[in-house]
This record gives sequence, C-alpha cells and structure tokens, in this order.
Amino acid sequence: MAMRRGLLSKILKVVLLLALTFVGVSLVVVWQIGAWNLVFPSQHHDTVAPAIPLDMQSPAVLVFSKTNSFRHKDGIAGGTKALQSIAENEQWGMLHTENGAVFNETDLARFDAVVFLNVSGDVLSDAQEADFQSWVQAGGGWLGIHSAGDDSHSEWQWYNDNFIGATFTAHIMSPQFQSATVVMENQAHPILSGMPDTWQHEEEWYSWEQSPRVKGFTILASVDESSYNPVQKFMDYERDLRMGDHPVVWANCVGDGRSVYAAMGHQAESFEQPVFLRLIVNALSWLISAEACPFLPTPYDNVITSVSKAGISPSGN
Ligand SMILES: [Zn+2]
Repeated sequence: MAMRRGLLSKILKVVLLLALTFVGVSLVVVWQIGAWNLVFPSQHHDTVAPAIPLDMQSPAVLVFSKTNSFRHKDGIAGGTKALQSIAENEQWGMLHTENGAVFNETDLARFDAVVFLNVSGDVLSDAQEADFQSWVQAGGGWLGIHSAGDDSHSEWQWYNDNFIGATFTAHIMSPQFQSATVVMENQAHPILSGMPDTWQHEEEWYSWEQSPRVKGFTILASVDESSYNPVQKFMDYERDLRMGDHPVVWANCVGDGRSVYAAMGHQAESFEQPVFLRLIVNALSWLISAEACPFLPTPYDNVITSVSKAGISPSGN
C-alpha cells in the first residue's frame, strides 16, 4: 500500500513537472514571437515625456513604435533603421520613442510628421489622443505602417475613422508570408512619384471588411488577389480573406492635416525593398509639405465604377 502511494506520488510529481515545463516553454514562445501583449494586453500609458534634443533639425519626424498588443520585433528594428537613414539623407530631424507621453501639445509642436511604426494596442491615454487629434487637424501628418491598421486600435474611434477607414479582419496564414503583385493607382499623386506600375512584394497581407475607398479615402495601391492565396488557414480552419477591391496603401485629409497608411512592414526585409523605401520617403515628404490637401490628380481617377470578386475597375485606369 505504502509502495503504491509512493509510486502514485512520483507519477504525480512527473506529470506536474511536465505541465509546468509545457506552460513555461509556451510562455517563452509567446514572448519570443512578440505575442506576450497579445495574450496579456497592456493598458499602460506613459506619464513623463522623453527629452527632445534642443538642436533637432527641422522639419522633424516622430517615430513611435509602442506596442501594448502584438510586437513586430523585426519590423520595428528594420523600420527604425530605415527611417533613421531616410531622415539622415533628407536632412530631417527624427526622434524614435516608445514613450506615449510625448503626445502632448508642446512636444508635438516640434514635429511635422508622426510615424506609427507597427504600433499596436491602446497606447495613448485619452488626453494624449486628444492632443494628437488637435495636432493632426491643425496641419500635422501621420504615416501608419502595417499593424497601425490592425484591429488592436478599436477603442480609438477617431483614429479608425480618419486614418484607417476600414475594419481589419485578419492576415493570411499558411503560408503567413506570400509574394503578391501590388498595383499602383493614382500615379499622378506625389506619393507614387518614381514608382513602378506594379511591384512584386512578399508580405503578411492584411484584409479588411470593406475597402476604405467607399469612405472616400484616396487609394494609392492595391494588391492583386489573384497573385496570391488570400486565405487564413490554420489546421482545419479556413477563412476566405478576399475583398474584391483590396487597397494596401491609402491617404486621407483630416482637417488641415493628412494621413497615409501602408499595410506592408511586418518583416525587417520589407524595409530593405527600394520600392517600399521610396514610398516611405514620398509619403513623409507629402505629409511634411505645405501643399493643400486633398491633392487631386488630373484627371482625378479615384472613383470606383465596379467592384467584383475578380477585381476593381476604377474609371480612368
Ligand atoms: Zn504582422
């Protein structure tokens, strides 16, 4: 009897040890893939702003990459490096921070454009959001990259209405990264200056419930859904992510300010692609410039005439 009890206790110990090891390994994997705050979302809001160098060049760009949800570790590292070299080349000032307290009236006044580089989750307090909204509406520029357009920002309605204009559904899985054809639209727009008509790019492609074109956003590039497999597939689960009209780069006018969103940028490699780098330089130049918004190319062709599963047929294109 005593022997059996001893054996049972040993088995129980081994099972407990295995369970603890499994939980431990799972948590390490969750942390390593950047999903810690996706599993345990943070509501942390900063209260003490970072120091901004007094001698920062002008115009200046604020690069923000705080993640209270999924963290794109590689995309943030690659994007920061690329933005640093762009700022150097263009002789722009740049501050990279993950401290949301910089979103106050005084500090924002030092910048001409703000980049949300793979920002995720509820990163700003209500007061910080309000100060940023006023700054944009008074003429500031915003560039959102990749996860800036996912569904982790849903608590900030103004952000979704003015910058994204669409509700995120999911990204492709199995495989997660696929090469697809990006088709440029509105080629007279300064953001597409020097860009090819089409661009083959490997990305974790996002989908939204509806194209932001219907909300009046200026569509600059779309992904050709026939050039990749737009499904979210995980084991037996399969979800069709086709949108028909599937924009991946768009711009908007917000009061006297403006915004640009680009869905690329999950991997560091995205920021090594000359076409994507050109797009970022052009977008920031447009956001910084004092040109009137909206910019309407002649002939203005951002008018959709038909949407079908087979694709889009904008007039003039
Ligand atoms: Zn991603």
